[in-house]
Amino acid sequence: MPVPSTAALAVEHGVNLRTFNSFGLPASAHTLVRIDSDAALRRVVDHPELGRAPKFILGGGSNIVFTKDPQAVVLKVEVRGLRLVEERPDAWIVEAGAGENWHDTVAWTLAHGYPGLENLALIPGSVGAAPVQNIGAYGVELRERFHALDVVDLVTGRSVTLDASMCHFGYRDSVFKHGLAGKCVIMRVRFRLPRPWQPVLGYLELERKLRDSGITAPEASTIFDWVCTIRRAKLPDPALIGNAGSFFKNPVVSPEQCRDIIGRDPEVVHYPLPDGSVKLAAGWLIDVCGWKGKSIGRAGVYERQALVLVNRGGASGAEVLTLAGAIQESVYGRFGIRLEPEPVVV
Ligand SMILES: Cc1cc2nc3c(=O)[nH]c(=O)nc-3n(C[C@H](O)[C@H](O)[C@H](O)COP(=O)(O)OP(=O)(O)OC[C@H]3O[C@@H](n4cnc5c(N)ncnc54)[C@H](O)[C@@H]3O)c2cc1C
Repeated sequence: MPVPSTAALAVEHGVNLRTFNSFGLPASAHTLVRIDSDAALRRVVDHPELGRAPKFILGGGSNIVFTKDPQAVVLKVEVRGLRLVEERPDAWIVEAGAGENWHDTVAWTLAHGYPGLENLALIPGSVGAAPVQNIGAYGVELRERFHALDVVDLVTGRSVTLDASMCHFGYRDSVFKHGLAGKCVIMRVRFRLPRPWQPVLGYLELERKLRDSGITAPEASTIFDWVCTIRRAKLPDPALIGNAGSFFKNPVVSPEQCRDIIGRDPEVVHYPLPDGSVKLAAGWLIDVCGWKGKSIGRAGVYERQALVLVNRGGASGAEVLTLAGAIQESVYGRFGIRLEPEPVVV
């Protein structure tokens, strides 16, 4: 039987991944396939060699630490398209292709009169990766604006639609980090943007903007601008300094644990959660352990935000992990809390 050729597929070999990850870490893909449609992905699944090979799904590479070359065919998701699916009395349903840039998608929804994603402006990466860790910022999480998504199964090639209950969203978490990790590719995401639009302004830095500006009822585009300004002031631009945003999740502890820490460190930055547990600011824990601005090898802790680890130039993934491990040890030594990394380590 003739072996189907890969001619119809966008297959590349020996691809340098340094520019495909926001940390700028060295890695190489022995095989990379660009996926711009369900049909293209099905051709990979049905291919006698590519179909059997392990796969690694790559979006914008802004939440990945490469410590080695992926031992897998890299599927670079490039599915495009933005459209209003439905205008309901209580919501706009908007669909975006998984390969669309997240920030551009947020800007597109606002420009077309569908507000609701403005607090999530300027988060790097692609639309398809947003549900994977249920991205969140400035008081809004993706799951609060989520309607459904379409995946293609990497074994059967079948398309399936998942609603929110099937995605098991949690804090920087979803089924795509557990039961469905590496098993399917998210191809399109649909958002449910509630009408009438209500601003979300509870976050401290947004409250400050509200006070300082004297504006009492900001429009969604104003909140978008404020979020961009705040983020540009405190987070490094990956185009200039390699990084993956927050390197650790904010730990969630019991009220007893929190009281114990407050007893020793009254300044600890903490937020009570609706279920009674307490979220601690990981950046604060790292900062008081003296890490801000420090480096190990060519990996460092960002001067303006201790939660962000940066590539000071030519760092390897191993150097980043060595620094992360040293930070985990010192935070554990002082607070008894084990910080959990947020990015995916390859
Ligand atoms: C400066 C900076 C600031 C950041 N700020 C925030 C923030 O405020 N809030 C926040 O939540 N995150 C933040 N992040 C993290 C990152 O932007 C998000 O996690 C983003 O969603 C990652 O998108 P990506 O396309 O780059 O994913 P990638 O890094 O390419 O992939 C991340 C994971 O998702 C999987 N994946 C990617 N695409 C798909 C797909 N289509 N189908 C299935 N699996 C897929 C990958 O296999 C991998 O496991 C920040 C990062 C940086 C660099």
